[in-house]
Amino acid sequence: MPPAAKPARKKTTVRPRNAAERAARVTEILRHLDEMYPNAACALVHRTPWELLVATILSAQSTDKTVNQVTPGLFAKYPTIQDFAAVRPEVLANDIRSTGFFNNKAKSVVGAAKKILADFGGHVPQTIDEMLSVPGAARKTANVVLGTAYGIASGIVVDTHVQRISRRLDLTKNTDPVKIERDLVKIIPQKKWILFSHQLIHHGRTLCYARKPRCPECKLESLCYARDKTV
Ligand code: SF4
Repeated sequence: MPPAAKPARKKTTVRPRNAAERAARVTEILRHLDEMYPNAACALVHRTPWELLVATILSAQSTDKTVNQVTPGLFAKYPTIQDFAAVRPEVLANDIRSTGFFNNKAKSVVGAAKKILADFGGHVPQTIDEMLSVPGAARKTANVVLGTAYGIASGIVVDTHVQRISRRLDLTKNTDPVKIERDLVKIIPQKKWILFSHQLIHHGRTLCYARKPRCPECKLESLCYARDKTV
């Protein structure tokens, strides 16, 4: 019998050896992301910072598609922030049921409306510290709203996609979102923070799936040494 064919060896990628090479690799990653997703933007439909804050709170453990199906009717029913502050959370919960975790989300949205009316004159605040004082707005939500609604680069949004891809690309070794963000803001130039967040989220949705990423189609492939790469 002829000898069994050897299994194909996985292609190995050369890793940077010093700080200069690491910085050059990050620049290359950013360049490829710009090529792949030059116009990546927030997929949550909104008209105002308040609507974006509500949509972002609703998007936790849900999909942007589901949230975008709910919010037009929601904002027609409660056109102003005062309307959200006046509604009972158990009533609002019914309106947002399809987004999941509706009781907690309803409490957050009503609490956020009351806080913003009481402390910020009805305007969604524009600093990260003020945003973090709003019920339902942890760092991820605060960064989404500040970056997308106001163009303020307060940090990098670390959602499940950014978490997974940052680790695959060896931009961090951490698993905690706050620590991941701390690692990323050290190596990504601040002027890229907003776009970079949207690009990684988009990449996670289109190619770099949690299971079976589509690596042969990925321009980052030559720079990526993820263990679960499919090349
Ligand atoms: S090569 Fe694969 S694992 Fe690496 S970033 Fe691209 S899609 Fe993700």
